[in-house]
Amino acid sequence: MKSFEQSELLKRLPSQFFAALVKKVGQALKEGYDVINLGQGNPDQPTPSHIVERLKIAAEDPNNHKYSPFRGKSELKKAVADFYLREYDVEINPETEVAVLFGGKAGLVEIPQCLLNYGDIAMVPDPGYPDYWSGVEIAGASMAFMPLLEENQFLPDYKSIHQDVLKKAKLMFLNYPNNPTGATASREFFEETVQFAEEHSLCIVHDFAYGAIGYDGHKPVSFLQTEGAKDNGIEIYTLSKTYNMAGWRAGFAIGNKSVIEAINLFQDHLYVSLFGAVQSAAAAALTESQDCVKELVAMYESRRKALVESFQAIGWKFQAPPGSFFAWLPVPSGYTSVQFADYLLDKTHVAVAPGSGFGQFGEGYIRIGLLTEEHRIREAAERIGRLNLF
Ligand code: PMP
Repeated sequence: MKSFEQSELLKRLPSQFFAALVKKVGQALKEGYDVINLGQGNPDQPTPSHIVERLKIAAEDPNNHKYSPFRGKSELKKAVADFYLREYDVEINPETEVAVLFGGKAGLVEIPQCLLNYGDIAMVPDPGYPDYWSGVEIAGASMAFMPLLEENQFLPDYKSIHQDVLKKAKLMFLNYPNNPTGATASREFFEETVQFAEEHSLCIVHDFAYGAIGYDGHKPVSFLQTEGAKDNGIEIYTLSKTYNMAGWRAGFAIGNKSVIEAINLFQDHLYVSLFGAVQSAAAAALTESQDCVKELVAMYESRRKALVESFQAIGWKFQAPPGSFFAWLPVPSGYTSVQFADYLLDKTHVAVAPGSGFGQFGEGYIRIGLLTEEHRIREAAERIGRLNLF
């Protein structure tokens, strides 16, 4: 069949590093191995039933069969504002400070196209969630990587950023609780961030995908809780993790009015908003009982305990993550992170994500997700323990 050439843009996009891992895991499964997949980031639990019930009712409402309002339903935007006030004591204007998104990923990829011109710089965390790179590339802008080092608790060191970068930088992505390191940010760090953004006219985009998931009684802080944050950026929130709604594609951007307007304007050209019934169910998720969130976090907390106990018992030393559903473990010497992930898959049929897929400073680590049952996490530790690596 005739094959049409892809655009320069498509050719320029970063390659999907983790596609190779998915393929290897698929191959091992096809060969009949009992693979324990700790490599992926897909929540394993179903959406709480009261949210699904809301969707069913809303799906039958003929009003939802029409185009939904271009910039999202007021009902959902109001629920977002209520959610931020209740959870974070942050006041949001539902009509001017909320943009409804097809999941966080869509917003994160759109933002560079909304704010950057050719030659501008976006600062991105390294290691970091690879979708930040895609958006910057689509916008034809450049990236400057901010190393997240263990000795700095995986926070960027603003003092080490070069003046030449700062002159051209317009945007900065941050993400706490962090994928892949599991680190969290303090209020002081966000205060420093706001000050830094003020000094260098940066727009901060804080990806709060794991906002609900903190441990040892600590609730992760929202960037918007910092004084002056709304003047200097936005936060991206998603229902994917908090309510196990990854397949529903529901998220939102909140914060600086001019950025929200830019996102809405861009989206006017790309889409009509989410299916109305999804929006109503998302509003219910945000405003009805949050017991399901408490239960979910408790479940991740006991999986985290299982991980720490069983992996430390085989001599693998690492920090228990303060947030997110990921743990970031050092690779034993003598392997790159890809070699080590391949070795584990081959010898133990345990899949983990190699850190170098998240950037240069991810080398030397692997990421483990808490997205499988406790007994499987313990079994993974037993299998790895038999290799006597530690
Ligand atoms: N940010 C981070 C750091 C993530 O890990 C993810 C999902 N893997 C997202 C954003 C996007 O989530 P979604 O598109 O499902 O809202």
